[in-house]
Amino acid sequence: EQNIKTLTNDDGYPMYLIKRRRIDTNKGNYGKVFIIGGNYKMSGAVILALKSALRSGAGLVYGVFPRSIMDRVGALVPEAVYIPCDEKNGYIFIDEANLNIILDKADAIAFGVGLGNYDELFVTLKEILKRYDKNLVIDADGINILSKDVSILKNSKANVLLTPHPAEMARLTGLCVEFINKNRVEVAKKFAKEYRCIVLLKGASTVVTDGENVYINTTGNPGMATAGSGDVLTGLIVSLLGQGYNLFDSAVLGAYIHGLAGDKAYETYGYGLVAHDILNNFGFFIR
Ligand code: AMP
Ligand code: MG
Repeated sequence: EQNIKTLTNDDGYPMYLIKRRRIDTNKGNYGKVFIIGGNYKMSGAVILALKSALRSGAGLVYGVFPRSIMDRVGALVPEAVYIPCDEKNGYIFIDEANLNIILDKADAIAFGVGLGNYDELFVTLKEILKRYDKNLVIDADGINILSKDVSILKNSKANVLLTPHPAEMARLTGLCVEFINKNRVEVAKKFAKEYRCIVLLKGASTVVTDGENVYINTTGNPGMATAGSGDVLTGLIVSLLGQGYNLFDSAVLGAYIHGLAGDKAYETYGYGLVAHDILNNFGFFIR
């Protein structure tokens, strides 16, 4: 197939995509990004994603989470803006007023970190897909929620990026993890093409594809196999979207920079590196 391009790092791709900032800029130039996540017993994922979006240069970062974790999020991420939402059984319930605020204001949305796979959230995701017309990243429990009926992607108004790890990809496709790991590029490509989305399939040599172009990431290390690592990637990607990079570039740049920052953290912490170390190193590369 001739229209398929394999993108490589040979010519400095993707780092030459990074836009230098003008001196006379303000936070309004770098996007309002919304991260929807968290549940009553899990606040770390959304906290890490928020910190990651801030550490990678987003202008305004909004956290949308259930009210019961407000104190923790507020204490740990004072730079974010908060939309604490109602709860049903400890899981987020986004009412029409809050949904309108999100759909109205967001330059980009990330849906799913630490949300919990709560049945009623399928309705929320379906609504966002139907009404939001910009870039939407679906990760973690967002992917698990979507797995209930993947076909809702076909009526999506939003441009969607999915960021599954192999087990999440298995839930999306019904394939087994072993098969996915043996056929990473083919599986990701087929899904992206069929559901008209971009797929970022995680793991060593993360694959990014829109169904035609394929990028295989070369950065990162096994120290990054640690809790919260993926939540940091999601915050980074949604932040890049807010800063005006397109969906494919944001996915590729996100994977690449996430790996670079992880490699930097590995120099100090080795296998003991934690998710915070990754996001705290973004600044070496995003400038
Ligand atoms: P998650 O499983 O959602 O926490 O995501 C883990 C993140 O760490 C993904 O971005 C992976 O690509 C990355 N990662 C995990 N293990 C490795 C590895 N062995 N080499 C490179 N990156 C890794
Ligand atoms: Mg994850």
